[in-house]
Amino acid sequence: MRERLIIIGSGPAGLTAAIYAARANLNPLVFEGFQDGGIPGGQLMTTGIVENFPGFPAGVAGPELMGNMREQAVKYGARMETEDVAGVDLSKRPFAVISSGDDRYEADVLIIATGATANRLPLDSEKRLWGRGVSACAVCDGALPVFRNQPVAVIGGGDTAVEEAVHLTQFASKVYLIHRRDELRASQAMRARAQSHPKIEILWNRVVDEFIGENQLSGLKLRDTVTGEVSELTVAGAFEAIGHKPNVGFLNGQVETDSLGYIVTRPGSTATSIDGIFAAGDVQDPKYRQAITAAASGCMAALEAEKTFL
Ligand SMILES: Cc1cc2nc3c(=O)[nH]c(=O)nc-3n(C[C@H](O)[C@H](O)[C@H](O)COP(=O)(O)OP(=O)(O)OC[C@H]3O[C@@H](n4cnc5c(N)ncnc54)[C@H](O)[C@@H]3O)c2cc1C
Repeated sequence: MRERLIIIGSGPAGLTAAIYAARANLNPLVFEGFQDGGIPGGQLMTTGIVENFPGFPAGVAGPELMGNMREQAVKYGARMETEDVAGVDLSKRPFAVISSGDDRYEADVLIIATGATANRLPLDSEKRLWGRGVSACAVCDGALPVFRNQPVAVIGGGDTAVEEAVHLTQFASKVYLIHRRDELRASQAMRARAQSHPKIEILWNRVVDEFIGENQLSGLKLRDTVTGEVSELTVAGAFEAIGHKPNVGFLNGQVETDSLGYIVTRPGSTATSIDGIFAAGDVQDPKYRQAITAAASGCMAALEAEKTFL
């Protein structure tokens, strides 16, 4: 089965690429997989209201937004394959794409838009309260009414954790930064920012043993890693900032990635280390990780893919 363009992933990046590519008559085939990123439609399928996607002044439910994007892509001719990509052979063109059902496809051009998966604490209470006060994205959820003028916590010790904590100081009454060590991993500048901010209190040597609450988070059970002492902390929100894992396993190292596994793209472009292969969305973006930036880079990828046929 030889295709002009295969898009792998059906989050905002993949579906935006599909809309543009379909309208450019590239007849794209989209793999809307189930693998690491979760489900067809991507990360926004797991959230409630999205308040920061332009065009929806009243907010929009994540699954509704993704359903609309899919419908728009299909309307213009994108074809959907509800299956994972299990492997690829990028050593020559056309590129080979092997589905999880072991079907082999060939494509002149590929767009990789498989997203990234937030690392989460492996606790039952975390799963139960996910989206009910527990989140992995302060920029996405921090401004929600439930967190306003309430104490909240960020769990982590890197640059992202500090950035999220500082972001949350705009809304929360107090931000606890919970770190399992006695020193932040964040850069010197970020460390200074966290330590001097009047609304941020760092709780050193602490790990979360339990997220407390029935239907909504009300606090955290913390354990001191040095003394073993257990305490409870009242918070309305807990934001996990313990890293993301880009979904690149199926590439088997054939495309250049950075030290964290994100696909390296040329600055100002979605071009990867291989001609004819483009990457869009969170899989190549360790910095912004937003639906609108994913959609924007999906658009770029489709326009760059189109150029290869001209
Ligand atoms: C709970 C939550 C709430 C969020 N809220 C907001 C918000 O309010 N506003 C905002 O802007 N951003 C929000 N984000 C971030 C936003 O969802 C992401 O930035 C965005 O979805 C990234 O889009 P993407 O297309 O790059 O990847 P994803 O949305 O991750 O989609 C990737 C897709 O690729 C598929 N895939 C993975 N591996 C394979 C494979 N091998 N074969 C085939 N398919 C595969 C996955 O199944 C998935 O469908 C939130 C994220 C989470 C987790």
